[in-house]
Amino acid sequence: MAAKNSQRVSVVTGAAGFLGSHLSDRLLAEGHRVIAIDNLVTGNTANIGHLAGNENFQFIKHNVSNFIFLPDEKIDYVFHFASPASPIDYLELPIPTLKVGALGTHNTLGLAKDKNAAFILASTSEVYGDPLEHPQKEDYWGNVNPIGPRGVYDEAKRYGEAMTMAYHRYHRVDTRIVRIFNTYGPRMRLRDGRVVPAFIGQALNGQPLTVFGDGSQTRSFCYVSDLIDGIFKLAMSDFHEPVNLGNPREMTIKQFADEIVRITEAKSAIEYKPLPIDDPRVRQPDISRAKKVLGWEPRVDFDEGIKATIEYFRQSLASQR
Ligand code: UDP
Repeated sequence: MAAKNSQRVSVVTGAAGFLGSHLSDRLLAEGHRVIAIDNLVTGNTANIGHLAGNENFQFIKHNVSNFIFLPDEKIDYVFHFASPASPIDYLELPIPTLKVGALGTHNTLGLAKDKNAAFILASTSEVYGDPLEHPQKEDYWGNVNPIGPRGVYDEAKRYGEAMTMAYHRYHRVDTRIVRIFNTYGPRMRLRDGRVVPAFIGQALNGQPLTVFGDGSQTRSFCYVSDLIDGIFKLAMSDFHEPVNLGNPREMTIKQFADEIVRITEAKSAIEYKPLPIDDPRVRQPDISRAKKVLGWEPRVDFDEGIKATIEYFRQSLASQR
């Protein structure tokens, strides 16, 4: 259905994924019409099933590494969120990961240019690699191994940022870059290999929690509603440099495992496994820029966010039985 003239229209790539689906919900709640695109390689229509029949929501199954054809649409915002995003996904799909970060970013930028739309790139804390500066500020250039197993994701996102800035500088496209730090919440895939679904799934099934390395590496976990709020504020701003979004509350992976055991009251033991190659030792966002430019900071505390996430996985496991 065509949008009313005044209604804002957003394209969301990766809309059937974890972040893309929450972003679509937020845009619809803000009154946008949403054109959702996903090739379902790691996304799942169950994440957008509740939007079926919504007259402001349209789903197109398409791989955005190929040309995107939307000739008759007025489009105000293009959110490029499509990509395999968990380490095991991009290890299994190295070439599609490189392509969606490179060709997919090129195609979505081309769409934004053609439609005179704003463009928002989902970038990542992985652009900082295994960081030598801590916490990470946006002006840190990073420490990435281009030929390591994670390089396919890190370098694709770095290339995506370079392409975005080139379209901004050369074609004057109204662009934004969000560097997303570890985010968790409902609709993560139970078996995507990331630490949050892995530990919660293991705890709920009474299995040992698989801590990689000695568990002293750190991450900082942001609840999804906080992240989406930051992304929406950034999209509505006119700020073109990269902005970190994440929760600075940092913990070791061993502490995280202990928290999951405590909150789920699981009887699970901890089992130590080898640390994956190039696994970053530390990660914590410096969010001063987001605070200053967007007036944004996370609000959901860890216990509240993790309990909602555990409840989601409890229900998905129950429905699988
Ligand atoms: N990790 C772990 N056990 C698992 C999965 C992950 O100890 O079953 C560790 C992983 O080595 C990393 C951290 O948890 O140090 C976060 O991993 P994740 O895959 O969630 O994302 P990353 O932040 O590395 O992109």
